Amino acid sequence: MVYLAHYSISLCPLSAAAALEQELLCIFGTGDLGRSLGQRLLQTGYRVVYGSRRPHSCGLLPQGAQVRSHAAAAEPASLVFICIHREHYDFLETLAPHFKGKVLVDVSNNLKKNLYPEANAEYLQRLIPGAHVVKGFNTLSAWALQNGPSDANRQVYLCGNSAEAKEAVAEVATKLGFTVLDKGSLSSARELEDFPLQLFPEWRLPLRLAFGLTVFFFFYLLIRTVVSAYVEQGKDISFRIMASLANKVFPIVSLIMLSLCYLPGVIAAFLQLYRGTKYKRFPDWLDRWMLCRKQLGLLALGFASLHVLYTLIIPIRYYVRYRLAAATISEIRLNHTIPFDTTMAWRTDSYYAMGILGFGLYLLLGITSLPSVSNALSWREFSFIQSKLGYLTLFICTFHTYLYGWDKFLWVSGYTWYTPPGYMLSLVLPSAVMLLKLLLVLPCVDRSLTRIRQGWERSDPEDDSKNSLLT
Ligand code: NAP
Repeated sequence: MVYLAHYSISLCPLSAAAALEQELLCIFGTGDLGRSLGQRLLQTGYRVVYGSRRPHSCGLLPQGAQVRSHAAAAEPASLVFICIHREHYDFLETLAPHFKGKVLVDVSNNLKKNLYPEANAEYLQRLIPGAHVVKGFNTLSAWALQNGPSDANRQVYLCGNSAEAKEAVAEVATKLGFTVLDKGSLSSARELEDFPLQLFPEWRLPLRLAFGLTVFFFFYLLIRTVVSAYVEQGKDISFRIMASLANKVFPIVSLIMLSLCYLPGVIAAFLQLYRGTKYKRFPDWLDRWMLCRKQLGLLALGFASLHVLYTLIIPIRYYVRYRLAAATISEIRLNHTIPFDTTMAWRTDSYYAMGILGFGLYLLLGITSLPSVSNALSWREFSFIQSKLGYLTLFICTFHTYLYGWDKFLWVSGYTWYTPPGYMLSLVLPSAVMLLKLLLVLPCVDRSLTRIRQGWERSDPEDDSKNSLLT
């Protein structure tokens, strides 16, 4: 039985719509993806026929679509979208004679990587050797299809062994408003099936680093403060874990992550100087590191924001209010006013000012890394902000930390159990990065680096050590 009959209104010009109306596409499966795809195809002007196990009771379908049994639906169409989970493909083998010479689009994904020995599309091709299987549309969600292409999901990846079949599918995708990316033969199907299973791949390393640093510094500071106070003085100051300790860990991790953003660039520059060319590939680890600098920076900004929020609550903390009140009462009782310390005033004001300035620049770096903002900038503007202002941010935040330390570096009592305070450790990396950067901006070194980056090559990098850096 054929369900149908309202034709959807097409927004295409009349002649184009008339031409498209001639084309009938088949969709197997009336589930989420099948329905969304059918709706989009109908809106674009195609005719759609669904193949279903239950043509009489498959629920609400997009207006204008027909629904038939699988065999009857496949018969008049030259292109069939298989919107069915791979586990149910077996029955398709019995329909092989109906698929001879037709294009089958495999849109399926799996729940896990390497769930099956072969890719779903290759399996489908094996089941129906007489058809031309094309893998595609699997990286789009039913939701994205319903809402139409937007920036984030404008692309449709395709792969298949028949160029004509891919062309036919590409034509449909283009008419739906997507950009087609041909990934080659059907052997790439597994790669396409793995795409939707990826969970923030470029965030993995930065997140692991942030997690590792947070855990390390949390326990480091816990031992130095809470545990040492308990062991040496029998004092329980575990309440400090929630605010004081957290507000020490966050800025430390933030500063280290920010330095890790700039360290690979510095290493790459020294490598280019050493090799005397920019045309040799960087080692894989450096490539990977450079590619996740944006994520490192955004995480650093996240930790800096937490530090700012925790700092804002300092005046309303019970512990702080208690200490202030106790100190004031003690001064009144002793009738003694602590004299105003101008140096201390300079130190604390500069410390806060550097913190505010650093955070402002941090925010600027974060905002300009957003695609909508960075797309509006020229390359020169973008690199000015991310490189020049980035180093300025690193400098100001490092200076902020040095001001925090002030003369505490010299206090022997600060080295609890022979360990340096956390902020001192956090200064090692940014100081090293800035020192190396300082070397790179020395006119003689900068000249060499600029020449190399403009394409100049030292003829024999091994033998030319004499003329290396400072020529
Ligand atoms: P779904 O909502 O579960 O629909 C699957 C459809 O397959 C069912 O509606 C049913 O249609 C048919 N079916 C179920 N069991 C069957 C069986 N034993 N034999 C034959 N047909 C059977 O799934 P979906 O979300 O639409 O996903 C369909 C395919 O698209 C999957 O391979 C999925 O990996 C892929 N995909 C989905 C999305 C998404 O966002 N949903 C995105 C990308 C790719 P009938 O009752 O009409 O026969």
